Amino acid sequence: ALDAAWADRWLRECARVLAERREELIELDRAIGDGDHGENMDRGFRAVVAKLDEGPSESVAAALKLAAMTLMGKVGGAAGPLYGTAFLRASVAAGDRDKLDGPAVEAVLAAARDGIVARGKAEPGDKTMVDAWSPAVKAAATPADGEAALEAAASAAEAGAQATKPLVARKGRASYLGSRSVGHLDPGAISTAYILRAAVTAAV
Ligand code: ADP
Ligand code: MG
Ligand code: MG
Repeated sequence: ALDAAWADRWLRECARVLAERREELIELDRAIGDGDHGENMDRGFRAVVAKLDEGPSESVAAALKLAAMTLMGKVGGAAGPLYGTAFLRASVAAGDRDKLDGPAVEAVLAAARDGIVARGKAEPGDKTMVDAWSPAVKAAATPADGEAALEAAASAAEAGAQATKPLVARKGRASYLGSRSVGHLDPGAISTAYILRAAVTAAV
């Protein structure tokens, strides 16, 4: 079930995967940014785990809010406020549900994506994390089952992240490169795909 314990496992799995992918995300960001995305995400989610170690979350919403507050304080750069807003909006969307079914997964992911768009003003195709979040939200719309909705979302995010490669960056640091950003994956779209895949892994 996609309940509070799942939400805690999700955040811990994010920390594990982002630590493992730290160098890869640094390399991706070095190509079209300033090379800190892997470090930023690893630092942020390590801090989330430190908070979780104080005790289990009482609800999905509480876990997501803990992540939001911690990521806003610890990640920095562009990604910190964006992921912070995403998790905060997701927490509000989770509301007082004790577990998430398919429509709730869609609502939570849509709220996260809308928060990122409200904050960063990127549109699909601008070569940002929105290019992973947007297809994930669309893919989550059909399944009735929460786990199936998450699986669909994670797969769509992975495809969306890979599809950033030929795009010209129009937002964030990579946009300073203009057409020289073509041929590189967007680091934030890749970290989003890892975060959504971690949600599936945690759903055992
Ligand atoms: P910084 O660019 O400040 O060093 P990070 O390297 O941690 O921050 O994060 C960069 C990622 O943030 C990009 O790969 C992109 O996915 C995302 N990003 C940057 N600006 C925006 C924006 N305006 N809207 C959505 N995502 C953005
Ligand atoms: Mg960076
Ligand atoms: Mg930076």
